[in-house]
This record gives sequence, structure tokens and C-alpha cells, in this order.
Amino acid sequence: KNPVPSDIEIAQDSDLKPISLVAEELGLLPDEIEFYGPVKAKVKLDVLDRLKDRPDGIYVDVTAITPTPLGEGKTTTTVGLSQALGAHLGKKVMTCIRQPSQGPTFGIKGGAAGGGYSQVIPMEDFNLHLTGDIHAITAANNLMAAAIDVRMLHESEATDEQLFNRLCPADKSGKRRFGRGMQNRLKKLGITKTDPDELSIEERKRLCRLDIDPESITWRRVVDTNDRFLRGITVGTGDEEKGHERNTGFDITVASEIMAILALTTDLRDMRRRLGEIVVGTSKSGEAINADDLGVAGALTVLMKDAIKPNLMQTLEGTPVFVHAGPFANIAHGNSSIVADRIALKLADYVITESGFGADMGMEKFFDIKCRASGLVPNVVVLVATIRALKMHGGGPKVVAGKPLDPAYTDENLELLKAGLPNMVHHIKTARKFGVPVVVAVNSFATDTDAELALVRKAAIEEGGAEDAVVCRHWALGGEGAIDLARAVIEAGKKPRNFHFLYPLEKSIKEKIETIAREVYGADGVDYSPEAEERIASYTRLGFDKLPICMAKTHLSLSHDPTLKGVPTGFRIPVRDIRASVGAGFLYPLLGKMSTMPGLPTRPAFYDIDIDFETGRVVGMF
Ligand code: ADP
Ligand code: MG
Repeated sequence: KNPVPSDIEIAQDSDLKPISLVAEELGLLPDEIEFYGPVKAKVKLDVLDRLKDRPDGIYVDVTAITPTPLGEGKTTTTVGLSQALGAHLGKKVMTCIRQPSQGPTFGIKGGAAGGGYSQVIPMEDFNLHLTGDIHAITAANNLMAAAIDVRMLHESEATDEQLFNRLCPADKSGKRRFGRGMQNRLKKLGITKTDPDELSIEERKRLCRLDIDPESITWRRVVDTNDRFLRGITVGTGDEEKGHERNTGFDITVASEIMAILALTTDLRDMRRRLGEIVVGTSKSGEAINADDLGVAGALTVLMKDAIKPNLMQTLEGTPVFVHAGPFANIAHGNSSIVADRIALKLADYVITESGFGADMGMEKFFDIKCRASGLVPNVVVLVATIRALKMHGGGPKVVAGKPLDPAYTDENLELLKAGLPNMVHHIKTARKFGVPVVVAVNSFATDTDAELALVRKAAIEEGGAEDAVVCRHWALGGEGAIDLARAVIEAGKKPRNFHFLYPLEKSIKEKIETIAREVYGADGVDYSPEAEERIASYTRLGFDKLPICMAKTHLSLSHDPTLKGVPTGFRIPVRDIRASVGAGFLYPLLGKMSTMPGLPTRPAFYDIDIDFETGRVVGMF
């Protein structure tokens, strides 16, 4: 259709298959699915046992050049490519993407279900509550936060004996018991006695008094809203908590460690272990304090037991989609779940997944964190490029969400475009460093000219060394517009696998950070704040230095400075702070001014969102 209607109009006018039919077409058995209404379902992890002997499909990661604030069409391309493979070339395909946060949905960027004729539907469900996984994470995260503060309060008010009596209470028969929540702490302390009454005074104290150092607490509360006024808060100002005030703050839920755990876990038992290993701070004597010490990890697992099952939805052309987990790619690791990918690789011949933001962000973390945790080996990288973003890198005027594009972006301008090509070439070469073949998808906009598109293709192949570079029109045409891209991906998928990580885990924390900074960002080196130096020393002492690194960096530049476009040179990366996500399994350096709680603009996306009472439909969620 010309002009192409709005995303939500296309999505709402499309025919939805019952999700039971989508599941059946995928080869799922009726008792492997749990319905959430007629068009959404969760898939049980048991399916992996049934299919364990099946070979894995071809594993494709969709990434991009450094984007404008508008996004360059990764999700749209992930969906369009899947529609081409599944609905036009007759391949068994599965799309695996993240559930969006409500922060951007109501903030700057709007929805994230793809766009035009390449979308996941129903897009309101996709962009809002879906099946409640993000809410479950918020609940679990904040239960832990409550557990920490209240534990410090109770310990401060009780003698050692009172504390022991309360934590190891006697049952009706007068017999004391440890209870489940104590078991991991007993193990950690090497206490093998099963009867609490047999513990020495010293053992009772070690078991029950965690003696958390309030200054050391890194666990923050979360909410899935861009609420910058919660970045810094003081808790404990009520009358009953006087004397226990503490400065802390909120992160957005999708930046939380529990979100990262949902994305990186492999099954419920593994999730229980990871939740227990979450380190929230240290004791006054420097011992790491984790969720198992607080006795809360079992309850966290219970809150997360349904969230661990991937959500089945569909594309506009009826191909199956898993929507599962949604960590941001700038302040978290930016990839959908391992569980969903694993199931998808057994069910389909092609699995198309998206990693967030540019290849320096989500793709690097896909390889070095997600593939390391899963053991899965990627076959192909699809790198999305747009003429508008390349022109921005070539020196074009600032691109601002919500404002019309400058004519520099909509009129043919080969000089500006040419000047921006090195950004794409840099990202292609980064992907190739991991040994994975690259197909460039030039996501074409109505204003792009043939000469411009040809220039990008040529540079991708000749300068970047891409296997192929294909112009695609799936936004305007649906899967049909990505058939050439699908063919190129099928070809690239035939190459033998040659994947390797960027750095070995045995390297020191600083060596790992510097490898990423130099090899992926093109930095000259790294500078550390005194806080970061202190944390590195402490994490090394506690034995957390063998974890991979998850950089929190702006996605708007290869460097830490969002205003530096193209391929910046002559810069050093400032590491302001480092946090440890021991349960998720990575260290998390914060670069420059990177914040873990976004804010809202003056005119947020929520201004356009409402119910149209004539039709009963949601409007304005593009
Ligand atoms: P990303 O996943 O890379 O952030 P999206 O796929 O979400 O990007 O696309 C960002 C926005 O751009 C969406 O609103 C989408 O509808 C729009 N878009 C993507 N490709 C095109 C295109 N070829 N023409 C016009 N708009 C597009
Ligand atoms: Mg996206």
C-alpha cells in the first residue's frame, strides 16, 4: 500500500492466527504450551528433553551500525527476514526477540515490535505487559531490596541470642529447625550439624548475623518506568526506621541483574543457583553477602518460575516468534533469552535473533557473554545499515526523535554518505574478528536513491569484507521485500563455523576491559576512577575477576561520548564505576555519564497514546 499506514494501523488490521495453530505448526505438543488468552502462550522448558537429539538450526544474529536515536530497523529486519524465510521460501524459521521495556514505549522511542509490514502482533500486548515477566522481575528485585534493609534493621535491634531464636525458631513440638532459607548459608559456612541446638555460640553468631556494611550495598530497587526522580533516593525516613536512613536509588527493571539472569539462565535449577549467588554487598569484615545468605533466593525463584518460560507470538505473516527477556543493550547485555534460543534451534532450521543497538554493544555481548553462557555457536551476522545513519556519521546535522529529518538525509548526497561509510566498515570488521560471516542488510527508506544504495553495498563488500550486502524493502513490502536478504543469509549459513571469543576469561579485569575498548571501540586506552580502582581490587580479592565484561556505554557512538560520530580516534575510555552481577555472571563497568535509569523528554511518547472509544482500540502507540 502507498503510503504505508502507521505501524499500529497495520498491526490492528492484520489477521491473527490462534496461537494454538502457530504452536501446532511449530511441532509443539498440546501439553507443552500454556495459553495466555487466544494469541499468546508460554512454552514449557520440558520440550528441550523431548527434542534433545535433534540437530540445532542455523543461528543468526541481527545487529547494526551505530544508530541514530530513531533506530535503524534491526527489529524490523529481524521480523522481515523471518517472514521471507518462513512465508516465502518455505523454511522452518523462528524469531527470538526481547520484550520491550515500558520506559522507551512511553518515553522517546515508542514501541519495539518492528515496523511497517514487518511486525510482531498484537503489538499492544508485545509493548505492554505481555504475560507479566517484567512485572515478576520487578517484584523479585524489590523483595530482595526489602530483605536487605529489614535485615540490617533487625540485626541492629537484637542480641546474638535473640537473632538465633528468631531465625531458627522452635516448632510446636519444641524442636528448633533451620528451614530451607538457611541451607545454603550453612553450606557456605561449612556447618554440617543438622540440629540448631548443637551449634556453638560462635557458630550461631556466624550463621545469623550477616553484619552487612550499608556503604557496600550495590543492590538497588527497580521500576520499569523512565522515572529519573528515583535515580537517587533516601530510604528509612519513617518514624519507626529512624537511624537507618540510607541513600540509594532505582534502576529501570530491564537494567536489573534479575533481568540479566532471566536472559542468561538455562533452566529453573540453574536460575535458582544464579539467584542465590546474587551479591548484594559485603559484610563489615569484607565477606560477600548474597541472596542465599539472606534466605530469599527460593522465594525469588518462585516469583520467577513462570517468567522463565518463553512467550510465543507471531509475525504479520504468521511465522512464530519467541519474545523473552528484555535487557537494554547499553546498560545491560541487550539480548533475549538463551532458553528461547535453545528451544527455537531445536524447533526450526533458522533462528533469527536480535541483539540491541550497534555491533559494539549488543553483538559483542551476544558473543562474549550470551554465547559463552549458552555454548551455542552463531552462524551468521546480519548487520543493518541505513542511508540516514551513515549520512549522520559522515557529518550530517543532528538527528532528533520527533523532529522532521533535515533534507541532507532525504535528498541524494553521495559525498555525505561516503564520509559516513567507515562506521559500517568498522562494525563489519568487528563481527569478522569473532570469525562470523557478515551479511549487510541495507534497510531502504522511500527517499533513498539507487546510487546511494549501490555505494553502500560496494563499500560493505569491498572495504568491509562482508559476504554479501543486500538492499531490502521489508518495511514497505513485508517478507517479500527481504527475499534477497534471506537468500544471502542461507548462503552465508552454509559456511563452516569458525566462531571464537574476543578475550579469554582468565585475563585480569583490566585486560578484558582494555581489549574491548581497543578492539571494538577503537580507543587508545582506559582510565579508571578511584572508585573503579577500589572495586576492581575488591572483586579480584573476592574471586569475581574471572567473569566476562558487560560494558555500560552509550549506544550513540563507538566511544563513550554520544556526540562523537563516525569512527572516533584519539580517545580514552573513562570507567567511572564497576558493579558485579555475580548471579548473572558478569562485571559491569559504567563508562562516562551512563545512567541506569533513563528520563522522559518534554514530550514523551505517552502524549499520543489513548483508547479510541468508538472502536475500543489502543491508538498512538506507533
Ligand atoms: P531497531 O530495532 O534497530 O531499534 P526498529 O526496527 O525498531 O529499529 O525500527 C525503528 C523505527 O524505524 C520503527 O518505528 C520502524 O517502523 C521504522 N523503520 C524501520 N525501517 C524503516 C524503513 N525502511 N522505512 C521507514 N521506517 C522504518
Ligand atoms: Mg529493536
